[in-house]
Amino acid sequence: MKTWFERAIFFSWYCDIRDCAYCYMSTQPKKKKAVRSQASILAELLICKKLKWKVGFISGGIGAFSKTEFKNLLKNMYKVSKEKFWLNIGPLDKQTLKLYLQYTKGVVGSIETINPKLHKLVCPSKPTKPYEKMFRISKRLKLKNAMTIILGLGETIDDFEKLKRFIKKYNIVKIHFYGLNPQKGTIFEKADPPSKEYQAEWIKKTRQIFPKIDIQCGIWKDRVDYIPTLLEAGSNSISKFPAIRLFNSDYAKKIEQKVKKTNRTFVGSLTKLPKINWNKEIDKLNIEKGLKEQVRKKLFKYLEVMRKSKK
Ligand code: SF4
Repeated sequence: MKTWFERAIFFSWYCDIRDCAYCYMSTQPKKKKAVRSQASILAELLICKKLKWKVGFISGGIGAFSKTEFKNLLKNMYKVSKEKFWLNIGPLDKQTLKLYLQYTKGVVGSIETINPKLHKLVCPSKPTKPYEKMFRISKRLKLKNAMTIILGLGETIDDFEKLKRFIKKYNIVKIHFYGLNPQKGTIFEKADPPSKEYQAEWIKKTRQIFPKIDIQCGIWKDRVDYIPTLLEAGSNSISKFPAIRLFNSDYAKKIEQKVKKTNRTFVGSLTKLPKINWNKEIDKLNIEKGLKEQVRKKLFKYLEVMRKSKK
């Protein structure tokens, strides 16, 4: 059986909403749009492709890009990866989904918690209804549906029945189970992250009812020890690890060891850079020349970080 690492590609550190109770963004003053350059995103994507890290989804603060800018980004990303993407960019209407359709595999709804009362409290400006509407539209457009859940916000395992109904109702084929990462300045600052047993319980129940669903578990660098329990519970892949910054670090080595201990094959690498002529890889990209040179610069900066990372 195989397990792989999935990286979420973020295109901005900006959000119009900024009031989800668990989120770092909610502690930040309103800022000007801080959007990454295309070159840096494309360089990261090329690294993902060559290291065999799957792209979990593309995400960024709601409102960071205009639709035309985002479509252009998707077009160039598609040229690099030759694969369609999961989009986690807020609830999208039919017209917008159609605009991105040729580059889209499916949509991800940031549902975060399935308990409706808790949801009102922790995501006051991010209701689930628009996501539910998006799931209905995406199905008609023959796109796949995925959702995210953050465990440890105050839900209990008794809420699982609600999740079960939701997955069935909206044909969810992929689910991301994260654990709370307590952020300074939020109401969760002093809260404990969920235990591995609790995160595993949600995964196990989901796997039992939905044998074919794709389950991704978020681990963060402080929860590498969770890996065997979460994989044995039924997860397919691992996410939420700063794989470039901590490439070949003790954490990264431990992840690979932990996966091997569960008798799974780890696809790709978090520790070894493949022997690749990176310049040639850049030359091959079918993107505009000026952008190509910017990607080259960014790529070598990332590679430098990856070669230096040891801690
Ligand atoms: S929408 Fe996303 S980025 Fe914005 S505050 Fe909520 S969780 Fe944070």
